[in-house]
Amino acid sequence: MDNKFETNAIRTQIERSQFLEHSAPLYLTSSYVFEDAEDMRASFAEEKDRNIYSRYSNPNTSEFIEKICKMEGAEAGFAFASGMAAVFSTFAALVESGDHIISSKSIFGSTHSLFVNFFPKWNVTTSYFDAHNLEGIEALITPKTKILYAESPTNPAVDILDLEVLGVIAKKHNLILIIDNCFASPYLQQPIKFGADLVIHSGTKLIDGQGRVLAGITVGSADLIDKVYRFSRISGPALSPFNAWVLSKSLETLAIRVDRHSENALKLAEYLEAHPKVNWVKYPFLKSHPQYKVAKKQMKAGGCIVAFEVKGGLQAGQEFFNAIKLLSLSANLGDSRSIVTHPASTTHSKLAAEDRVAVGITDGTVRVSVGLEHIDDIIADIKQALG
Ligand SMILES: *Cc1c(COP(=O)(O)O)cnc(C)c1O
Repeated sequence: MDNKFETNAIRTQIERSQFLEHSAPLYLTSSYVFEDAEDMRASFAEEKDRNIYSRYSNPNTSEFIEKICKMEGAEAGFAFASGMAAVFSTFAALVESGDHIISSKSIFGSTHSLFVNFFPKWNVTTSYFDAHNLEGIEALITPKTKILYAESPTNPAVDILDLEVLGVIAKKHNLILIIDNCFASPYLQQPIKFGADLVIHSGTKLIDGQGRVLAGITVGSADLIDKVYRFSRISGPALSPFNAWVLSKSLETLAIRVDRHSENALKLAEYLEAHPKVNWVKYPFLKSHPQYKVAKKQMKAGGCIVAFEVKGGLQAGQEFFNAIKLLSLSANLGDSRSIVTHPASTTHSKLAAEDRVAVGITDGTVRVSVGLEHIDDIIADIKQALG
């Protein structure tokens, strides 16, 4: 039966145990037992598809992976202890010494740091394209280019990259297209439809949605996931069964949570757009967003992140932060609790001012991860802080 997204999120479940529990139980076990010597031999020879050791697979982890695969339209996946473990292990499994990566300039800070500070140790180099200039990608391709990498919407500028255009370029030049889909969540956007080979998520954000556990996952074509699996079962970044269990339950409410996040975020964006102390607001589903049409084409709703600029630069930005009462000053996003951050003085403070501007961050830029509190209370707090 071909069920819809919400139904798969709830009804995809590992086989019931002899206790016939309704809700999937937690399988805290590091290993699994065998019937006899032949069963054990055949299992290790991979003649049987079964659990051997929880570094390789676990029932709770498998349920979580199966749900995300159905949501993303992927053939297979592997789950990790964090989003960054997913990013690192995926690249480590696929690249050889000498390979070249082309990446969007606007990517998560730790991913950028992997490309700049660590991959060169293994003779893997990266070139960057501007999120506003996808036409510039082809000029960066060399005979050694293997992977095209991007995020959309971007953090914290909330730019939108046209996934269909990236898919066409990757196919034409035989590159592996990897999309970090964390900001959209599997509910709002499925990059595989537009030609992505692999999709990465930090499960820590909207997938958990309540700021409790770290997790990551990579899904995509069975061939590529097999490489990721072979590397990861040896190197050991596996997701804990407890976290997988928490996240599989979280996915049951992903659709209704992300609908409400997006509804609240759009209302806040519209409020800010009319506020005299705000220079500009960026939200994918605001008509004023430069890539509004692309956002409408590839996303179901705008997501939870709103960026705006307070008039008066760094000082006004900091005054705004000091006046916030209800919202949290925290580094997470996609949480049920609304969070405000000031990228110029925190997450992106190590960049030079001109590099910050190049990725859309001015001194007064504020990023709000709009949560699930009542929208009137979220707006009231921001209103009093701006005043
Ligand atoms: C948070 C985040 C990551 C890293 O995930 P962790 O779970 O914190 O390791 C990767 N990519 C994006 C876009 C993120 O927001």
